[in-house]
Amino acid sequence: MGPPGAGKGTQGAILARRLGLPKFATGDLLRDAVKQGTPLGLKAKAVMEAGELVPDDLMIQLIRERLSEADARHGFILDGFPRTVDQAKALEQLLAETGNGPGFTSVINLEVLEPVLVDRLHGRSNEEHRTDDRPDTILERLRVYHSKTEPVIGFYRERGLLADVDGIGDVDEIARKIDRALRLRQSAQGAA
Ligand code: ADP
Repeated sequence: MGPPGAGKGTQGAILARRLGLPKFATGDLLRDAVKQGTPLGLKAKAVMEAGELVPDDLMIQLIRERLSEADARHGFILDGFPRTVDQAKALEQLLAETGNGPGFTSVINLEVLEPVLVDRLHGRSNEEHRTDDRPDTILERLRVYHSKTEPVIGFYRERGLLADVDGIGDVDEIARKIDRALRLRQSAQGAA
């Protein structure tokens, strides 16, 4: 978890490599769908460019399909999902159906202050030319994050699955903090 620009993609990739697990980033899956012009891509394009969220039913269907593939059998890193409480509830049910209950879930919350996020996103927009990294869209994505996605943090905190990690600093240092947070959670689970 973390607002746009928090470093979820970067840290998710490091974690996936370290754990030997696949990473599913819904933003990447959607951008692929847009590029290929699939029915999902056609529906998602304008929504993404406006900085809004793609409807929950479409996202839940996308994740359901992706998680049912063979490479997801031994675990996975999710980046960009769930982004609403309804998505989190659907994921919880999906994981319970496949025998991966809460005991197998860890949620990392990357914390980064807003001015730093805005700087990073403007920087990325110069480098990557993502159509949703325009200044007005960046502000809208942050607004949507606060209203729709921040409540998901409470959802996981209540369930005792959340670890907060300071997302400011250099990439390797943050990766080490994430490792430490995951180890702490594992040993707490082992003790329980
Ligand atoms: P960010 O860097 O803002 O976290 P992502 O690459 O994760 O960006 O997502 C880009 C866009 O894709 C979002 O602004 C949103 O429109 C759409 N999107 C990605 N994941 C979801 C999701 N779980 N639910 C709804 N929309 C999503």
